[in-house]
Amino acid sequence: MKDSKSTCARCTIKLPERVCRNQDGKSLPNCPTEKGEALLRMSQKAYENPDVLEFAKQASIQEAEGYSNRELGYDFVTPAKPRILEIIEFSKKMKYTHIGLAFCAGLVKEAKVVDRLFSSHGLDLTSVICKVGRVPKEAIGLKDHQKIAMGCFESMCNPIMQAMVLNDAKTQFNVLLGLCVGHDSLFLQHAQAPCTVLAVKDRLLGHNPLAAIYQIDGYYRALK
Ligand code: SF4
Repeated sequence: MKDSKSTCARCTIKLPERVCRNQDGKSLPNCPTEKGEALLRMSQKAYENPDVLEFAKQASIQEAEGYSNRELGYDFVTPAKPRILEIIEFSKKMKYTHIGLAFCAGLVKEAKVVDRLFSSHGLDLTSVICKVGRVPKEAIGLKDHQKIAMGCFESMCNPIMQAMVLNDAKTQFNVLLGLCVGHDSLFLQHAQAPCTVLAVKDRLLGHNPLAAIYQIDGYYRALK
């Protein structure tokens, strides 16, 4: 794959006929399934680690259990579970008892609900807000006009400390709730436990960024 970049998002082959889904399927010239033998071998090697293998196995079992009517055939399956339930079920499958929640100050109500839900399912939760540490935005070089509330003290989002609080608590699995673009990246870089995302931040679209994608030929056409 060194000389060609993978462009699966531009693949023109019908989904069921793609070589990544069908052993007799077709491929494009720069198909990573056809050209990525070395990476395939390396990735398969990674699954030989028993912890990775168990994680991958339980994630795929959870994936399948996200559908009803599987016994009727692929054409009849229907989605069965909200993501929050999948996270709870996956945590139990992995025998995790201590979950970390890294949440945004803009979603304090949602964090309380998530806390109650996890507790009601017997899971212990350590939670930490993005503004933890009360570090002023000036500490990372921001000028007053670059803050949301200009002329006022403003705590920076501190995803590195969020990760450290959860690392220190030795959480087994972390859930991200509404972290900003980039802050989520820093959290993911610094967290020690595996992480999943309950929701991403989209201030405009009710934390549903795909709304703009679904409307790309309509109200959001100017993005193209
Ligand atoms: S792996 Fe190959 S066949 Fe599958 S989407 Fe990518 S380019 Fe298309």
